[in-house]
Amino acid sequence: MLVNFFLKRRVKKALENKNLQKALENAVNHYNRNFKNAIEGLEWDKLKRRVREIKERSVSRLPELLERFVKEAERAGAKVYVAKSKESALKYIGDLILRKNEKIVVKAKSMLSEEIELNSYLESLGIKVVETDLGEWIVQLAKEKPSHITAPALHKTREDVAELFSNYFGKKIEPDIKELVKIARRELRKYFLEAGVGISGANIAIAESGTIVIVSNEGNARLATSLPPLHICILTPEKIVETIEEASVILKVLPKISTGQKVTTYVSFITGPSRTADIEKEIVLGAHGPEELHIVIIDDKRTEIREDPLWKNVLYCIKCGACMTICPVYDIVGGHVFGSPPYPGGIGLAITSVLKGRKEIKSILDLCSDCKKCDSHCPSGIPISKLLIDLKRRRGLDLLDRVFLPYFGSNRIRKTLNTFLSLLQLPFLKDGFINLPLSSSKLFPAISLRKYKGNERGNVLLFLGCLIRDFYPEIGESAINILKKAGFEPFTSDDLVCCGAPALHLGDLKSLKNFADKNLSIFEKLNPEYILTLCPTGNGIMRKEYPEIDERGRKWCERIFDFSKFLIMKNFPLERKGKGGKIYYHHPCHSLNFAGIRNEPLEILRILGFEVYEEDFPTCCGFAGAFSFQFPEISSSMLRKKIESIERESPDFVVTSCPGCILNLRGGLAKIGKKNKVYHIAEIINQELL
Ligand code: SF4
Ligand code: SF4
Repeated sequence: MLVNFFLKRRVKKALENKNLQKALENAVNHYNRNFKNAIEGLEWDKLKRRVREIKERSVSRLPELLERFVKEAERAGAKVYVAKSKESALKYIGDLILRKNEKIVVKAKSMLSEEIELNSYLESLGIKVVETDLGEWIVQLAKEKPSHITAPALHKTREDVAELFSNYFGKKIEPDIKELVKIARRELRKYFLEAGVGISGANIAIAESGTIVIVSNEGNARLATSLPPLHICILTPEKIVETIEEASVILKVLPKISTGQKVTTYVSFITGPSRTADIEKEIVLGAHGPEELHIVIIDDKRTEIREDPLWKNVLYCIKCGACMTICPVYDIVGGHVFGSPPYPGGIGLAITSVLKGRKEIKSILDLCSDCKKCDSHCPSGIPISKLLIDLKRRRGLDLLDRVFLPYFGSNRIRKTLNTFLSLLQLPFLKDGFINLPLSSSKLFPAISLRKYKGNERGNVLLFLGCLIRDFYPEIGESAINILKKAGFEPFTSDDLVCCGAPALHLGDLKSLKNFADKNLSIFEKLNPEYILTLCPTGNGIMRKEYPEIDERGRKWCERIFDFSKFLIMKNFPLERKGKGGKIYYHHPCHSLNFAGIRNEPLEILRILGFEVYEEDFPTCCGFAGAFSFQFPEISSSMLRKKIESIERESPDFVVTSCPGCILNLRGGLAKIGKKNKVYHIAEIINQELL
């Protein structure tokens, strides 16, 4: 939980960089809109499932497909080199270019080339390397690293690029995007014609035909792979699929998820070097395109993880970059802070840990707030957050974590500490908040020691969770009222402990198992018909994590329901009674990405006669449990954006389904002295029923 000092400094710098903030915001807004349009009318989830199946199948047969690809590519006239390490790949490529006595290389975008630091290696051999993808060229001129795998210069605004070009060309260039593109085109054209070598990556490789597939928009990949007499393609083995049909499924998904395009402008299928048989039907290599095609397949520790049930997921990545673009933390700090180049974001941390070792990303891991948005967005179904939790587990706990976790796992410690804190807070209480400058962005709610009155036994057990128990008992009481009205016998137990969210976030699966053990034992003892949650994190953890760590969890996960889902499932009699009004419904990240709750709360609110607003692309409020204490500056930035979004809509109420989001939103609004009408859905329903 203690955050690395240098990481904090990088975060601060990123937050203070106004151009970066503007560039990120623009990029995310464009992506969201385009992506929504691109998938309209498609069975998107079905397509994603097909990608997952293809990747699973291909990776499980990787040695066989690799052998077949090599054979077929060579049959088509390519020369294939399979490199175990990046060093052997670099040597092969360097020697080849020197043997040909070539001095200029044009490159199409390839993150693999960034990974193996190909440019600096070739430059050390006296070879000039020119990036021809506009984003890569910008980054190359700026002597920086890409901040995103599909949009390397995503961190730059038009003004930044104009300044960069002005310095490069030695004259003032205006920040007009169209003009900037024209200038780049003019400048790079000469290199395409002069270069003796073109280097590219590949998005897919097809085993049945030995074909490499390259998708691009600018046209530079076509020029770089067809004008120079020598084309070197570098790729990693997990890019291989068996058939052209499988490749076409990935091609259908890749541009949509990556850039929000239905298809990319150019899709090149390259099978062997250029050739002609136009004279006497005799095949001659090197017609208008390259005479030689070398394919360098670089493993570099990748296939070592193929047997690991969790880590083989990394090999399913199709490098679309979407998990970065939609990551709420990435969107605040950008790629240079979040991850080790060239792979930023959550999956970047996972890939880097495989390639460079866990030490490399140890301190950056904390940047993941565990919102799980990347998991649900990834077209290959990669459980990115799980990989990061596994990395945290291997990293272990620091001293602060060890002090902090027992509070959640022991009701005795929690109650004692709460009693002590509730006395301490007295002089600072104002309107239900502790008025201390603890955080720059929000006030904290007062601790409540209120006891629940009610049955000790019944048929519906309410799992209240820490925040409702200690801060918002009225939410629990509202839920109990509603359930009673519906004819159930709701009850709760004082012996239940925290669901284990803080332990999971810190990767402490041992403590999570202890929490699960305590709660599951109570479930066994009380044997309720249903267990209802009022928090999506608790819901997700108990339904999805408990079964994986404790056999009893499998039985109980069937009986655990989110409160709103339960009311809809049981056809709870809802009717319009109040005078309605406009509600801004805030979707908690874990509702959407973990517990699978989206429509039910909205449906309830609409039945109750409210006009409901939801964001097209729901954003995080910045709570994220321990994360908001580790990175209050990032959390504040998210909260500020959320409050701006709320204010734009001028709702009568803000409603959500997560007590953590309530804590953040109420505290944030209170801090800036705004009208504070943030409710849990159970409170709103209860109010309407009164
Ligand atoms: S992890 Fe998934 S979303 Fe992220 S780059 Fe890979 S395929 Fe795309
Ligand atoms: S879980 Fe959330 S914060 Fe973590 S990498 Fe994924 S999207 Fe980013």
